[in-house]
Amino acid sequence: MTERIIDDVRFQPVEVQLLEPFAIAGGAPAIARNVFVRIRLRDGTVGYGEAAPFEAVSGETQASTLAALDGIAELVLGRDVAQWRRLHAALRPALAGAPAALCGVEQALFDAFARHARVALVDLFGGRAGALRTDITIPAGDAGHAQRSARRAVAAGFGTLKVKVGAGGWEADVARLRGIRDAAPGAGLIVDANAGYTFEQARAFLAGLAAEGIRLRLFEQPVAADRPDELRALERESGVPVCADESVRSPADALRVAAMGVSSLNVKLMKFGVVDALDVLAIARSAGMTCMIGGMVETAVSMSFSAALAEAMQPLCGYVDLDTPLFMADGIVEGGLRYAGEAVSLPAAPGTGVDLERWF
Ligand SMILES: [Mg+2]
Repeated sequence: MTERIIDDVRFQPVEVQLLEPFAIAGGAPAIARNVFVRIRLRDGTVGYGEAAPFEAVSGETQASTLAALDGIAELVLGRDVAQWRRLHAALRPALAGAPAALCGVEQALFDAFARHARVALVDLFGGRAGALRTDITIPAGDAGHAQRSARRAVAAGFGTLKVKVGAGGWEADVARLRGIRDAAPGAGLIVDANAGYTFEQARAFLAGLAAEGIRLRLFEQPVAADRPDELRALERESGVPVCADESVRSPADALRVAAMGVSSLNVKLMKFGVVDALDVLAIARSAGMTCMIGGMVETAVSMSFSAALAEAMQPLCGYVDLDTPLFMADGIVEGGLRYAGEAVSLPAAPGTGVDLERWF
């Protein structure tokens, strides 16, 4: 047992320039300012995690994340990594209000535990299901940008486009969707308003799409986070599946939207940490919901973790949105998930298979 004792914890801030700003309703970061986490066990096993604070979504920043992590090492040093529920019980109150920080530490704990046991993370969570297929995001922008992005995405092998809306007016978003449909007539369309519309605007947007004959596969978080009742009302009225994202920041929130009858929710590890995300997945499964597995602006460290969870949780995680490493240059992270067009596959390696040693 003693070889599973945690004997070192490190945090490494990183700045990753994006190939284009990740523009959504509320903000458009051009640089991902994240924090890598490394946990080492007494036998030399290391595990990696990532905190990816997204200020426009949760108000967290790299600075607030580092401040939250200060002093956390003493909660985990000398503890058995296999005791992850007890570690979570100590970490969660200490990192209240800093879910990205909690996520980074918990990812590193699970990764170290899996590597110590010499199992791939996907096997730890439930086993392989074959390659996932991710959507690709078309950030907020003008109609020309949307159409060019759609053409490029389809040429690169993506069959599902996730279009960020709600940053301009709904009329402009309808025009963007029309351009995308014309450029990529066979593509599946998901839209994500990141809480950027009012109920009436969301309704007008859907009517505008219907008038153009544009069908959506999913409408993610059309309205404000504190209006989950409107998510359900919009879904019932329009027949378009709705996904709660900003409205679900805890297992209790998941229970609330499940009870209301919203058909899906977005499980981003950065909103909950790993352990609470497992509860959110259990609630969604029990309620007969479908999950989207997505993320903030994350490197392959966190996205490999989420891909392992998503693959193990098929068919529950029916919507896969694990594309942000594609907005970054190659070479930031060694190993981990691989993309071939829209196909996402995981290596046959312990843990996530990521190697971050050059950062530490
Ligand atoms: Mg979203």
